[in-house]
Amino acid sequence: MKIETIAIHAGNQKDISTGAVIQPITLSTTYLREEDGSYRAGYIYNRLGNPNREQLERVLAELENGLDAAAFASGNAAGMSVFQSLKPGTHVICPDDMYHGLRNQLKNLFSGVLEFDFIDVNDEQTLNQHLKPNTGLIWLETPSNPLLKITDIRKVIAIARQHQIKVVVDNTFATSICQLPLSLGADLVMHSSTKYIGGHSDLMGGVLITSVKDEWWEKIRLIQSLGGAIPSATDCYYLVRSIKTLPYRMKGHVNNAVGLANYLEKHPNVDSVLYPGLKSHPQHDIAKAQMTYFGGMLSFCVKGSRAEALKVINKLKLFAQATSLGGVESLIEHRASVEGPDTLTPQNLLRVSVGLEHIDDLIADLEQALT
Ligand SMILES: *Cc1c(COP(=O)(O)O)cnc(C)c1O
Repeated sequence: MKIETIAIHAGNQKDISTGAVIQPITLSTTYLREEDGSYRAGYIYNRLGNPNREQLERVLAELENGLDAAAFASGNAAGMSVFQSLKPGTHVICPDDMYHGLRNQLKNLFSGVLEFDFIDVNDEQTLNQHLKPNTGLIWLETPSNPLLKITDIRKVIAIARQHQIKVVVDNTFATSICQLPLSLGADLVMHSSTKYIGGHSDLMGGVLITSVKDEWWEKIRLIQSLGGAIPSATDCYYLVRSIKTLPYRMKGHVNNAVGLANYLEKHPNVDSVLYPGLKSHPQHDIAKAQMTYFGGMLSFCVKGSRAEALKVINKLKLFAQATSLGGVESLIEHRASVEGPDTLTPQNLLRVSVGLEHIDDLIADLEQALT
């Protein structure tokens, strides 16, 4: 079936006791044993499994073209489970513009446990130079944050395969609607479901999706149940509810992002626009080869410096100046301020999470702020 249908129906278990069409929220933390000691539906205790979490995991796995998914309390918890699953001493290669929350997690929580390098994974020579006998994992994030760089997923996977290295793709920016890394050969996909999957800026979540149930996946499942960084049944319910509109929301985000990118590219007070859907994007051809749509995120550099960028951001009325992304409302952020002094992000760059407001209203707000 097609994504719009999967998003609405996958995993939903109609309630046979009441006839409810929509699966109810199961809040009970514990489940009755039968006389013979067994459990009627296999549920024992909520940390180990819950019907709403199972429903969420089923729909996420199907949307991503995967076999199984594991839901976590946040994107960072999902990422951490991957790093915890590696043998101590494993060398991990990450992009130099990796999501800063995960980069800080590696630096602060895994130094002395794992070895890691943050490099330009797009450059084949650099990547090959950094491979070591103990390299076990290459982490990719494409499009990247906030420069919207595109990594050639197929190319990296081909290199990784030659050396039996696993590849994980953080697919948060693209979502499974715009890009399916498992279908390109990735071993695992990660999402922060706080972003587009939740879609309404009101809950936190993360997910890992696999196309094979191997020993590595069992370890990740063990980290999920024993580590306990699981989402609540209510959060799972709301995520499932959000996913029903995900395909249509994403198409709306993409249409508005294309519209804004074209508008901004022609604006005399804009230096450059970073959007993978633009012909001017340096990796537009790679994006075209691996994405079905180019996503709802873009960045642009205001003509001038930090001061000019901050002036624009403070004049905007409809765009909320806030971090995060993927909600129905448009957000804008001066990323260099968030990322701190060691950032590689240009000081005149503003990152936009393009919402679902009418494009004319978004353009009108930008027009008054840029003038
Ligand atoms: C937000 C984000 C994360 C982390 O997810 P949380 O839900 O905030 O823990 C990871 N990767 C990317 C690309 C993100 O945008």
